[in-house]
Amino acid sequence: MRKLLRTIFLVDLIQGLWVTFRNQHPKNIYTEQYPAQRPRIAERFRGAPRLNINPETGETLCIACDLCALACPENLIVVSSERNKQTRRKELTTFTYDTSRCMFCGLCEDACPVDALELTQDFELASYTREGAIWDRQMLEEGPKPTWYRY
Ligand code: SF4
Ligand code: SF4
Repeated sequence: MRKLLRTIFLVDLIQGLWVTFRNQHPKNIYTEQYPAQRPRIAERFRGAPRLNINPETGETLCIACDLCALACPENLIVVSSERNKQTRRKELTTFTYDTSRCMFCGLCEDACPVDALELTQDFELASYTREGAIWDRQMLEEGPKPTWYRY
């Protein structure tokens, strides 16, 4: 009988609508107004990769050891190097990183012995082409340059 009365008087519907109307106050609006307002990123968020350089000399910190490439379960990092005949040291020539296949697990970052490779808090990685998702050394060193919209 109680269930029948609830159905006749649309009690469940009214309760549902009340929940909706109760949350109409502007202080309860949850939608982020991106890109006008940029979201706050969690401290431990892992986003766009960056190949760090020495800010004083402008030289890469990467020693071309290939450990990041070996640690990556997706095999998406390719490191090339050549040996400097004078210093006998390996020097980085090219570094490619396919962001389209990356799952941002951070294993490459953890494997780097010199903190050259870092997953930053930049989250805007979209590109119009598949090729655009493959970042070369220059892109990794300079980082993405997303458009900042102002209203
Ligand atoms: S974050 Fe993970 S999947 Fe992406 S490149 Fe590094 S190891 Fe590979
Ligand atoms: S692990 Fe670090 S130093 Fe070694 S190749 Fe990768 S980025 Fe360079």
